[in-house]
Amino acid sequence: MWDSLLAVGRDPSSGGYRRFAWTPVDFMLRDWFTAEAQQRGMTVEEDRNGNLWAWWLPAGATGDPRDAFVTGSHLDSVPDGGAFDGPLGIVSAFTAIDLLRADRIEPRVPVAVVAFSDEEGARFGVACVGSQLSTGALTPERALSLRDGDGATLAEALRTAGRNPEHVGADPNLARRVGVYVELHVEQGRALDLLDKPVAVASAIWPHGRWRFTFCGAANHAGTTRLADRRDPMLTFATAAHDARRWAAAHDAVATFGKLRVTPNGANAIPSRIEAWLDARAPDEETLRALVGVITADAERSAANDRTSVRAEAESVSPAVLFPDEPRLRIQRALAADFGDVPVLPTAAGHDAGILSTKVPTAMLFVRNPTGVSHSPDEHAEITDCRLGARALACVMASWVAR
Ligand SMILES: [Zn+2]
Repeated sequence: MWDSLLAVGRDPSSGGYRRFAWTPVDFMLRDWFTAEAQQRGMTVEEDRNGNLWAWWLPAGATGDPRDAFVTGSHLDSVPDGGAFDGPLGIVSAFTAIDLLRADRIEPRVPVAVVAFSDEEGARFGVACVGSQLSTGALTPERALSLRDGDGATLAEALRTAGRNPEHVGADPNLARRVGVYVELHVEQGRALDLLDKPVAVASAIWPHGRWRFTFCGAANHAGTTRLADRRDPMLTFATAAHDARRWAAAHDAVATFGKLRVTPNGANAIPSRIEAWLDARAPDEETLRALVGVITADAERSAANDRTSVRAEAESVSPAVLFPDEPRLRIQRALAADFGDVPVLPTAAGHDAGILSTKVPTAMLFVRNPTGVSHSPDEHAEITDCRLGARALACVMASWVAR
């Protein structure tokens, strides 16, 4: 499975993946998912929000599935993302089913592998669009009017993809169909490497969000404009980037300006406008609010000094997720025989499992990432650890579904 995925959406110059929602690469990934499911005799359906579900039903089951053991992740990527973020969870899910079948285990409850649509939000700017629409956290009106870098709305992208944007919205079947959602994911940090363990179970997801800062000044000639006469929003932005780092350290949190849009973006022009996206994450919601508050206040002060202006708007803010005890303790018990005491770790990365946790019991497994690098072509996991991860997921699946 891994080999058949590696070439899809890989940029030959960077070696990273550019798998964006509702693009031709996304369609290839969807076809790959469908083919893997069909090879296993699983039926595939696409829900109203573009999430793919592959079903392994108990023998003789009829009617709509209920209380399923659901596992999976996402197939899309950030710009120049790594190979493992997302796909590892889906490949491991299919592998876990193969392992159960090799042991002649028949499920007594439905099993589903899910590929959530547009998890990274790389194209339309909002993360977890597929799962957020299904839980109702994102309204259809807001989702459909999101625009990509070329100005196309999600509604237009869906129509181009042959989908009906009018179908998008909360999934009334979600809570009934999903008994538990267990997402396996490559770790996006070095905690497991430092503990010398291959697999962990998640305790929580830090609250996090994206804020768009718009710095405005006045465009002018880079050669002839006296320094004293300039109103340069790049300076205000640069100060804000330093302030964000300083305040993040002071709050034991993280804050990152990772994306910029410069107008007019000329090498010999003072810019008139900088749009800069701040990603901020903190151990709790109060700290996150305080952190973004001081970064914004400092940016306003710098703007006044620089004779520019700044406006900050929240684009998406995700609350803290505390994964419930029940599925986590059950997972720890299921893994005890083969994996011993499995570490329990929080993460500062968002996941569909966090979104779903408002509606159904969810849990996560992490697989060791030896460098901790993620959202980069250098993201890596050893094949031996990936195999252990799939085996751990199979143990968990068997403990839930075996007759
Ligand atoms: Zn991911």
